[in-house]
Amino acid sequence: MPLDIEEFRKAGYKAIDRICDYYYSLHAKPVVSQVQPGYLREALPENAPEHGEDFDNVQDDYQKLIVPGLTHWQHPSFFAYFPTACTFEGILGDLYASSTSNPGFNWACSPACTELEAVVMDWTAKLLGLNPEFYNTSGRGGGVMMTSASDSALTAIVAARSRFIRLNPTIPLNNLVIYVTSQTHSLGLKAGLVLGLQVRVLDVKEEDAFALRGESLRTVIEEDREKGKRPFILVVTVGSTSSGAIDRIDEAGHVLKEYPDIWLHVDAAWAGMTLVCPEFRERAQLEAINEYATSFCTNFHKWGLVNFDASTLWVRDRTLLTDALDITPEFLRTKHGDEGTVIDYRNWHLGLGRRFRSLKVWFVLRSYGAEGFRGYIRKCISLNNQFASYIRDSPDFAFVTQPSFALTVFRLEPKMPEPLSLQSLNSLNRIFYSRLSARHDVLLTQTQLNGVFCIRLAVGAARTDDTHIKHAYDVMVEEALVAINTWRETLPAATD
Ligand SMILES: *Cc1c(COP(=O)(O)O)cnc(C)c1O
Repeated sequence: MPLDIEEFRKAGYKAIDRICDYYYSLHAKPVVSQVQPGYLREALPENAPEHGEDFDNVQDDYQKLIVPGLTHWQHPSFFAYFPTACTFEGILGDLYASSTSNPGFNWACSPACTELEAVVMDWTAKLLGLNPEFYNTSGRGGGVMMTSASDSALTAIVAARSRFIRLNPTIPLNNLVIYVTSQTHSLGLKAGLVLGLQVRVLDVKEEDAFALRGESLRTVIEEDREKGKRPFILVVTVGSTSSGAIDRIDEAGHVLKEYPDIWLHVDAAWAGMTLVCPEFRERAQLEAINEYATSFCTNFHKWGLVNFDASTLWVRDRTLLTDALDITPEFLRTKHGDEGTVIDYRNWHLGLGRRFRSLKVWFVLRSYGAEGFRGYIRKCISLNNQFASYIRDSPDFAFVTQPSFALTVFRLEPKMPEPLSLQSLNSLNRIFYSRLSARHDVLLTQTQLNGVFCIRLAVGAARTDDTHIKHAYDVMVEEALVAINTWRETLPAATD
């Protein structure tokens, strides 16, 4: 039965009460959902109800059926993938935004949506230390909020392709190549699939901490151009998902000066938020980003205290987006749009309608203040340093690559009379990881770096503190012991 306003008020209070209870009890829940595949289909009727139900029952079923099937990304012992810190301010921002359900595709459809976004993107650009050329107030560059970093990259790649074709109208599309590295997020390969374009994956080396170097970029460009292939965009990363690698944007940018038709997109989806702290700007290559990036992306919805979704994309020249994406049928024309006095954000990305995402970002930035926001980033990095110091001091664990901001990539590497081969270490670590992932009280993820199987610990949940870091390490020590024994049993007697 549809809720009326007063019933909504009551149901809304109840929902907020339950969300508060969820947060009170979160630390005591298993991090990982314990359900089996198909559990929900079994629990739910085959068809939507013919007659409306009492909403109280619906809310109760959320508690009973849905919550047990959730993995708790806000749990203080969630160390998997990447941070997705969420805040009450962000939740309330989304609540208000969805309460008016506004597709905000142009200025006229709700001036506040466009104007707040333009302001919040400028606030953020300043917090991150981006060059004024990227501000919306510059009138030339500007920032826009997107669904995800994948979406931001795809949009940049579409715009880069358009620009390249305008500059080189005789080059067949078949010859165009997207450049990524082996550490780039899968968004590069995905964009290649979507656009039907070739993607070249550039190798990076362990001794460079998996960063792209200028010389190898130059070699590959020359090699490709000789074959008639034409790279038109390079996606570089600040803080790769897998290993936290930071490409040498300074070197890449320097090489690309000789190839001005190649767009440089900087994907800093999780680590970009470190730029709010002046002490991390050098490591995150702010200077090179400001000098060379054609576009820059980071996500509030990862390490930025804002609940999913809120990705941000800045370009140095907004006409690069609008030249590629502006289609204005008669029914979307407006006086201000025609006059060019307002931003029509629908021309800056692929979709038409868009969520009012800037509201939650505005709430969070005002409630935390720049200082509180920096404090959160610093806290996460210092917690990761704590974990890294345990690994450094342990005789049984070793870094696979140096810790990067709030991410540590390591493996079990016990001292043995004979050093273990890569293959042995990989099989030992697979056993170790399968034990870790059977635990319910912590969650970490695995990765592979140039053939080395490794384990990642990513800090970022808003409620993680030093006790959770210590507990995670204790769990590792405990499981490592068992893993080493199990692994020994798999060895042929002669080589034991
Ligand atoms: C997580 C991540 C992405 C993907 O982010 P979405 O917003 O989910 O698309 C892209 N790049 C890097 C470096 C990431 O860590």
